[in-house]
Amino acid sequence: MRVLIVEDEERLARSVASVLREVASFAVDIALDGEDGLHHARTNPYDLIILDLMLPKIPGLRVLSSIRSEGRGVPVLVLTAKDSTEDVVRGLDLGCDDYLTKPFEMGELVARCRALIRRSYGRPDATVRAGGLEVDPRRRVVRQAGKEHVLPAMEYRLLELLAMRAGEVVSKEDILEHLYDFDAERFSNVIEVYISSLRKRFGADLIQTLRGQGYRLLESAP
Ligand code: CA
Repeated sequence: MRVLIVEDEERLARSVASVLREVASFAVDIALDGEDGLHHARTNPYDLIILDLMLPKIPGLRVLSSIRSEGRGVPVLVLTAKDSTEDVVRGLDLGCDDYLTKPFEMGELVARCRALIRRSYGRPDATVRAGGLEVDPRRRVVRQAGKEHVLPAMEYRLLELLAMRAGEVVSKEDILEHLYDFDAERFSNVIEVYISSLRKRFGADLIQTLRGQGYRLLESAP
């Protein structure tokens, strides 16, 4: 899952980013003003955007209205200062999905981010069930037939993405875009290595390769 943080308080942005990377295993990009934020939102396929409202260059509400008027359905969580009910109402009217008032608890932010992403993939349940697996994003573990697996970070990221989109063919390019932030180097052959390691762990038939198209994790256990 890949998240964009648009926030001009650099220290806050960096600490939110490190929590999301470490606790939730998300790939995270940061934009420090509205212009940069809008540019990133237009060029990368984010699973969630965390958007501060008071931003230099382009204010948050204008970033939000541009994103929505361009038909981008990405979930948006707005960060607001205290006593700004009016902004929250306008944000909701412009199509934000949730909001948090500063200062906020990191744990609450992480939980809301997860919930928004799950819902956007049509999986309201906190545990993602697909292909006979139970992927538990809160503990970052995967269960299969009663056995619990703790995966290396990138393997977990890949499995979570495929499980959220179970039954669907996900292309390699799409996988790379969702697994890495823009500073990371992307090597598509690494994906094959992760896939083969997931197959070894959970069974060879769980993830299908569709030549030239991508990978599909089965919705029901093979
Ligand atoms: Ca701000």
